[in-house]
Amino acid sequence: MSAFSDDLLIRGGHVLDPAGGVDGELDVLIRSGRVSGLGAHLMAAGVPVLDATGLLVLPGFIDAHVHLREPGFEHKETIATGTAAAAAGGICAVVCMPNTRPAPDRPEQVRSLLDRARDTGCVRVYPIGCITRGRSGRELAPLAELADAGAVGFSDDGDSIEDGALMEQALTAAQTIGRPLCPHEEIKAVTAGGVMHAGQVSQRLGLGGMPARGEEDMIARDVRLSARTGGPLHVAHLSTAGGLELVRQARAGGAPVTCEVMTHHLVLTDEAVATHGTQAKMSPPLRTAVDTAALTVGLADGSIQAIATDHAPHAADEKALPMERAPFGIVGLETAIGLSFTYLVHTGAVPLATVVAAWTWGPARAFGLPGGRLAVGDPGDVTLVDPKRDWTVRPEEFRSRSRNTPFAGYRLKGKAAATVVGGRVVYRDPGGRT
Ligand SMILES: [Zn+2]
Repeated sequence: MSAFSDDLLIRGGHVLDPAGGVDGELDVLIRSGRVSGLGAHLMAAGVPVLDATGLLVLPGFIDAHVHLREPGFEHKETIATGTAAAAAGGICAVVCMPNTRPAPDRPEQVRSLLDRARDTGCVRVYPIGCITRGRSGRELAPLAELADAGAVGFSDDGDSIEDGALMEQALTAAQTIGRPLCPHEEIKAVTAGGVMHAGQVSQRLGLGGMPARGEEDMIARDVRLSARTGGPLHVAHLSTAGGLELVRQARAGGAPVTCEVMTHHLVLTDEAVATHGTQAKMSPPLRTAVDTAALTVGLADGSIQAIATDHAPHAADEKALPMERAPFGIVGLETAIGLSFTYLVHTGAVPLATVVAAWTWGPARAFGLPGGRLAVGDPGDVTLVDPKRDWTVRPEEFRSRSRNTPFAGYRLKGKAAATVVGGRVVYRDPGGRT
């Protein structure tokens, strides 16, 4: 991406690159947009310097699950506002989902999305192509052509592939192409009418429930098909303990399966619906404390390779609808690092290096993306984090066009201090130390 090809010397920070095995006080030199050196007290005449004293210097964070909404839903988000939100959240690259209008089921649509991202985006954008034409679940999209155009994987996210034979066909194609499917794992017949997790809380609130098995039975089918075909499967937005167990078994059996967990599924339970209403409505829904605990363990032990946001912007009037009619989803790009540090790192629940790997090398490997580490020659993408920065979530200050979050008013510790993409500083925390 030629737009990001600057020079920068990041000096005096603590470099932590789990994949590269780097952990120490080092400088990072970026030349023409790529990492050109790591070392103590680097000098580079004429190269701009970013002082990283007191900061963590991490490989650029990659969010494997983002809805940018363009084209078709620009009142919720655009590539410009969505990537600005990513930059403000310390995210250097977003993998964007295809539930746009039109949905990218033809190669020219993938190309036009990439052109638009180059013109208006301020972080890297990696498109996901459709699995089926028009996301209708009936006929396979031209997956190889979509991949050639730049799709890094395939999904009908938001909608499921209910037809098992079609899913098997798609995974067989994915095996040949070498790009993963990241399908939306939900049996809609099981979750129909549900607006939150089916359990004690939904009963208490008198709201329609989405049983865990609506997700788990679909994951069970897909990991089985992945094992049978050898097609790479990245289980999207894993939310239940049972789903995690299925992924563990599939991986132990050698199936090419990876998975991701959303920040909110690690932090909140279905109890949040009682407090936050539609701002806590998403699919898959917030589950129980048992699920949250299991997912945290799964992240710590490496069963889960990526943390992502499922950043799903919606307009205020859409989320103001009653629980039954409001759309699923919350924004996440600008709270991801704060939540990850506050609830995973600072609590000691998950080691820092594991959390960093799940935001970098994990998603990079799952989707075959450049970056995710800071070796010489890698993209000069760097996320600088001030792990001690106390701040309050103020949705009115979001760069995102939408404000739908249950985390308004949360006090968090840890924030992106600066975001560097291809050697270019695309964000600096106005209240921070850089
Ligand atoms: Zn989904």
